[in-house]
Amino acid sequence: MQYPDFSKGVPRFAMAYQVTVDRKKCNGCEECLEVCTVGLFRMHNGKAALLPGRECMGCQTCVGVCDENAISVTDTRVALSPTCLALLSALDEEEAEKDRQAAC
Ligand code: SF4
Ligand code: SF4
Repeated sequence: MQYPDFSKGVPRFAMAYQVTVDRKKCNGCEECLEVCTVGLFRMHNGKAALLPGRECMGCQTCVGVCDENAISVTDTRVALSPTCLALLSALDEEEAEKDRQAAC
């Protein structure tokens, strides 16, 4: 399991976008490879597949160009309550203070 990198503060959203390709529908046209600016797609055995380690930005461009409706992009972000945001902010501040002290 890959854990998020918290070194630059706690993320405000627990997750981002989940992309799936229905390989039964995919006709291998490679349009999604052409348009995805983060390079999430590759070809595998004549069908689109997902490259691990790439983060989808949720632009939905790939969904728009796929004539076979083979791609779905789901927003899996969870909006945090004001209380959670305040707690995360306090944690960020605590971490920043530790960093400042360690740098002295
Ligand atoms: S655009 Fe759709 S049909 Fe074309 S390769 Fe990508 S997933 Fe397959
Ligand atoms: S939604 Fe945008 S960033 Fe995400 S896989 Fe599709 S084209 Fe790439």
